[in-house]
Amino acid sequence: MNVAPQDHADERERQQRWFAQLCDDLHRKHSADTDGHVATYIPELATVDPDRFAIAAVTLDGTRVAVGDVEQTFTIQSISKLLAYGLALEVHGRDRVLERVGVAPTGDRFNAIVLDDATNRAPNPMVNAGAIAIADLLSGPGVDDPVESMRAMYERYLGRRPEIDPDVWASERETGNRNRAIAYLMLSRGIIGPDVESTLDLYFAQCSVLVDVVDLATIGAIIANHGVHPVTGAQVVAREVTRDLLTIALTCGMYNYAGEWAYSVGIPAKSGVGGGIVGMLPGAGGLAAFSPRLDPIGNSVRGLRVFEELSAEFEMHLFDPDRPWHRTP
Ligand code: GLU
Repeated sequence: MNVAPQDHADERERQQRWFAQLCDDLHRKHSADTDGHVATYIPELATVDPDRFAIAAVTLDGTRVAVGDVEQTFTIQSISKLLAYGLALEVHGRDRVLERVGVAPTGDRFNAIVLDDATNRAPNPMVNAGAIAIADLLSGPGVDDPVESMRAMYERYLGRRPEIDPDVWASERETGNRNRAIAYLMLSRGIIGPDVESTLDLYFAQCSVLVDVVDLATIGAIIANHGVHPVTGAQVVAREVTRDLLTIALTCGMYNYAGEWAYSVGIPAKSGVGGGIVGMLPGAGGLAAFSPRLDPIGNSVRGLRVFEELSAEFEMHLFDPDRPWHRTP
């Protein structure tokens, strides 16, 4: 059956209005949720306003929906691990990265002091061990100023050089002894080089970058769009790398909730203890939520609920046979 282009445009507009309405409704509904607790592992994170809440989406044609505290900035935390992994793959290539960091999800907490003994690697790039091994690669010989290189990478995604929250960065540095333990274990196994403090400094800096919810949705849209910025058309991250990023996000992105998440929500995603979650929907765009109260695993409580409900309502699960953008018109 032939469908007139005007009918497609009308249908798309109707879907977009429905989506925006649902984001509004979900924001109103879940503003009342007070389950969970803000992260307290460093004192600075415990001072954030727990009631802040925002939802955003950026589609592949650049349309943007944003609801709630859309200008509130927060630290990106673990979501940085995905971007840093992309940069390492671009700079060092898959083989070199795979020598140090595997791709297997773990059932352990993100900060577990666990390595893959059989292969002498960090288990995957989304747990702290893997992210620190990636930071070591990115701060290796030949990189004059790793923190500036990392900020330049962010600039490609965000369109601005990001600020690093100085208090969170300092606090991560002062109290990050568990990460130090992971790093020294990896040094003892020859997985990372000897400059442990500068590697950790880069890792803490990348976690302390300030973003807002629209930044996260934009990052999601870029990765979902195989590296092309939906508004500027710039190639932000290499096309071949985005397949690996989407795969790792689906299998390891939501801490040790990743299996349940893949099953119920089915969107490649990454969360951080700052309260952000970014989802990447190939063929559609990026989706993000921000709310600082976390469940015991470390995922934003309201964020999980918003993603669950949006995924169900719009058949966003990657393997949903009725996923709208699977159907040919
Ligand atoms: N900076 C945090 C840490 O290394 C990141 C935690 C997270 O967002 O999961 O512990």
